[in-house]
Amino acid sequence: MRKLPVLIMAVTALSLSACQKIDGTGEQSALPEIAAPELSVETMKSITEELSSDAYEGRAPGTAGEEKATKLISEKFAAAGLAPGNGDSWFQDVPLVGITAKNTSPLKISGGKSDLSFNYGSDYVAASYQEQPKITVADSDIVFVGYGINAPERGWNDYAGVDVKGKTVVILVNDPDFGTESLEGEFGGRAMTYYGRWTYKYEEAARQGAAAALIIHDTDPAAYGWNVVESSWTGEQFYAQSANGGADQTKLNGWIQKDAAAKIFAAAGQDLTKQMAAAKNKGFKAIDLKLKAAVSLENDIKKTDSKNVVGILKGKTRPDEYVIYTAHWDHLGRCKPAPDGDDICNGAVDNATGTAALVALAEAYVKAGAPDRSVIFLAVTAEESGLLGSKYYADNPIYPLSQTVGGVNMDAFGMAGPAKNVIVVGKGKSQLDAYLEAALKGDGRVAEAEPTPEKGFYYRSDHFSFAKLGVPMIYFEGGEDLVNGGREAGEAAAKDYTDNRYHGPKDEYDPNWDWTGVMGDLKVYYTVGRMLAMTEDWPNWNEGDEFRATRDKSRAGG
Ligand SMILES: [Zn+2]
Repeated sequence: MRKLPVLIMAVTALSLSACQKIDGTGEQSALPEIAAPELSVETMKSITEELSSDAYEGRAPGTAGEEKATKLISEKFAAAGLAPGNGDSWFQDVPLVGITAKNTSPLKISGGKSDLSFNYGSDYVAASYQEQPKITVADSDIVFVGYGINAPERGWNDYAGVDVKGKTVVILVNDPDFGTESLEGEFGGRAMTYYGRWTYKYEEAARQGAAAALIIHDTDPAAYGWNVVESSWTGEQFYAQSANGGADQTKLNGWIQKDAAAKIFAAAGQDLTKQMAAAKNKGFKAIDLKLKAAVSLENDIKKTDSKNVVGILKGKTRPDEYVIYTAHWDHLGRCKPAPDGDDICNGAVDNATGTAALVALAEAYVKAGAPDRSVIFLAVTAEESGLLGSKYYADNPIYPLSQTVGGVNMDAFGMAGPAKNVIVVGKGKSQLDAYLEAALKGDGRVAEAEPTPEKGFYYRSDHFSFAKLGVPMIYFEGGEDLVNGGREAGEAAAKDYTDNRYHGPKDEYDPNWDWTGVMGDLKVYYTVGRMLAMTEDWPNWNEGDEFRATRDKSRAGG
């Protein structure tokens, strides 16, 4: 997972007092009282140590390390007293495809004041989501579609009145009210909505029938530099296998440097800066640049099978209603070696801890006795390749998403000791915030919003795969305001992790870790999920949230 930045900023968010009703369909029952759980620190320690040992080779999907990890998790689920979650199997197969582009052509632009040619890598990057050995986009009209957003619930459609079938669309990153100070606005003000994520923009371009989609890179609204775009878009790209081999996708998706985009606009007699400003306005009209694009590449295509591990504790009174816990078991495998030659990215914190937490929670749930609703424990694969295991489950749910009440995602526990706060990624999005606040109450801890909502972290871990299809999910982690040493110590510890361990060979198990903070956080994860499993309520996304319409439709059987 990504690491949250260390600065904390107070952000007021919607929260519910105990007397407000939560599901919008009836009287709000009080949130259930949850007895203190029996959580095993030994389970946390031993499974974290085991999964992050060199024998597991960093747990990359499709490797011997995966075999070992998924076997261990299933055995631990069984020993905890769960039932297999997929019929009589502990596994859900996740078919992946790896596509590596080669023989990439320059991006050629013609029909304007001068012909232009841009180099793959330094000027533009592109990848194909279609499983085709050769991809050619030729003589394709170029249309600037602003932010590339079609949001009927907000009365916003950048594709209104324009047919982009077979054309190349050029799109701005983030959403129209990026750059405002507050969290008020058509698209969440400063906070990014899903309409701001590049994944959304490619999905919409495909729905509109475009042949190719190019996002104009801009460091601030993208939240990372061109170096990150270039390194993550070149080399093998993993996707979920689909029955149609990606036939419903565009031929090409990619990014283009802002300077290059400015030249394209100039060739069309347009001014990029001016059009970027115009695109922020409601009623913006897409612009046919009266230019043609040509680009081609070849693909190496490789199929890989991976696995999610799933266990279930059947509910006592309403077994066909489900609460879900998710954590990714995978990590980066063998990686760029440290100076001492160590080339195994062990992923101890990220995310052997979260995987161990699934087992420790399962044990505690079984000891406490089955709750009213069923509880699913899902260890997903290929998070590090783009949330693919969780997306696969959400697209192919073993238990209906309309019957899945909500859930909790766990990705990387902080090991710096107990904190006075927890950081909520996506605070204010759903009514699950009230559950978290209730769970924290007895501990005297506070929930704080993530400091940089404009970076869109809510869209970057496994809870998002469920949220996107409407299931309310909450994602939080221990904060940095430490009981011992306060924010200064917490921020130093976080910086040390980011600089020296995160996504590197030194994210290793440390026998000297203080587990007190982890166990405090684990108790909160337990309590939030257990409350959900004991209430009759169906918490929803808050009014105006981007996922609410999807959830309402799903719950209504649509
Ligand atoms: Zn992670």
